Amino acid sequence: MTPPADDEVLTLFKQSDALLRGHFLLTSGKHSEWYFEKIRLIEKPAALEKIVDLLAAKIRYETPDFDYVVSPAYGAIAIGFLAALKLGKRFAFTQRAEEKMTVRPGFAGLDGSRAIIVEDILTTGGSIQEVLACLKERRVEVADIYVLVDRTGGTAQVEGRAVRSLLALKVEAFDPGNCPLCRQGLPLIKPGASDKKT
Ligand SMILES: [Zn+2]
Repeated sequence: MTPPADDEVLTLFKQSDALLRGHFLLTSGKHSEWYFEKIRLIEKPAALEKIVDLLAAKIRYETPDFDYVVSPAYGAIAIGFLAALKLGKRFAFTQRAEEKMTVRPGFAGLDGSRAIIVEDILTTGGSIQEVLACLKERRVEVADIYVLVDRTGGTAQVEGRAVRSLLALKVEAFDPGNCPLCRQGLPLIKPGASDKKT
C-alpha cells in the first residue's frame, strides 16, 4: 500500500470543516488565508475516522514495528486512539500535571516499549518535545513522530527528529498593513480561541 495523495487528504480536511479558507485574524495579530480549527475534527467523528484511515495507512507503510501509540491530551487523544485501533496497537496518553507533561498513571505496559507519537497539529513542536521527554523517563523508545497537519510546511524537526505529517501546510501570515486579503476587501474573521498552545 502506498501513502495517500495530498489532494485526497486536503479534500477530507475540507469536508470535515476543520480546514477553513477565508481571511482570518491569528492570535499573533497577523492575517492568514487559511485557518485550521482542530476542534471540528473531534466534533465530527465520521469525518475524523476517514482522515485517521489515511494516517493509519501511512503509519502501516512507514513505521510498521511498534507497540504503542502515545498522544498528548486532549485534542490528540481521539486521533491516536482511532489510529491504534485501526493498527491493532495499544494506546496511551500524556497529560499535564502541575505544568509537567506526564504519562497518565495506569498504563502498565508502556515502560520500555516501542512507541510512536501521534499529535494533531504541529506549529512549534512544544507539546511533542514534552511528550518525548516524559517517554524518555519511562524508557520508551520512540520509533517515529506523526501529526495530522504540519503547519510549518513539512520542514520542522523536534529535537533533531523529522516529524511525519499527513498534510504539510505552509501557512503564510500577513502583517495587517500589508495584507492582500485586506486589499481585496474580504471581511476579517476572528476564529474561536484555541484551548492550548501547540
Ligand atoms: Zn488582512
